[in-house]
Amino acid sequence: MQAEQQRLEYLQALGIDVWKPRGQESIADVMDADPIADIPMPDWDELRSTVAACTRCQLHQHRTQTVFGVGDRDADWMIIGEAPGAEEDRRGEPFVGRAGKLLDEMLRSVGLDRSSVFIANILKCRPPNNRDPAADEAASCRGYLERQIELIKPKLILAVGRIAAQNLLHSDAAVGRMRGQVHALGSGQIPVVVTYHPAYLLRSPSQKQKALDDLCLARLVFEASDT
Ligand code: URA
Repeated sequence: MQAEQQRLEYLQALGIDVWKPRGQESIADVMDADPIADIPMPDWDELRSTVAACTRCQLHQHRTQTVFGVGDRDADWMIIGEAPGAEEDRRGEPFVGRAGKLLDEMLRSVGLDRSSVFIANILKCRPPNNRDPAADEAASCRGYLERQIELIKPKLILAVGRIAAQNLLHSDAAVGRMRGQVHALGSGQIPVVVTYHPAYLLRSPSQKQKALDDLCLARLVFEASDT
């Protein structure tokens, strides 16, 4: 309970909303079972090993391995997607399938590659049959992503797809409404730009130009924040 209080105060001090999914338990309800509650500020290695051993939600039962994230731990840009798919679950790395190749191309369009950014997901484990993450699964995983963001301190976050954007920004809005503007996350007011998920772009290539526009917006925002 004391650890729970400490964690809530810590989240509040960071300006991070304590997210209560509709009709689900609050973060406080699950905090007793939170493996990082007893390590309020885990370092990178502690966080990685806590995630690797995580059993907070049912997804651990069917995973091959957790997918912690990949890239530069000091990256200026963080790319946040939805959840690992089958290939990511096998290889332990986010965005390695067809959608990942398109994400790499999108990054290249603004002069970046996957080793110069940090790529993570809302969920660290693969949902069965690639279904959408359930609210309790996203809530169970949220503390891990928040701590990654605190440690990396990105200057810009690119949220790819509806699940990433809605979970990060606590919104129900469609991607089409969230893209084209700059959102801010937490007390650090980290700029967040929303774009389409590359898997959606593979199905709807006519939307690719909009995604490239989003990448250009992200680059402009980053350049403005980096001066
Ligand atoms: N889609 C995602 O959102 N993330 C991945 O890691 C792979 C596919």
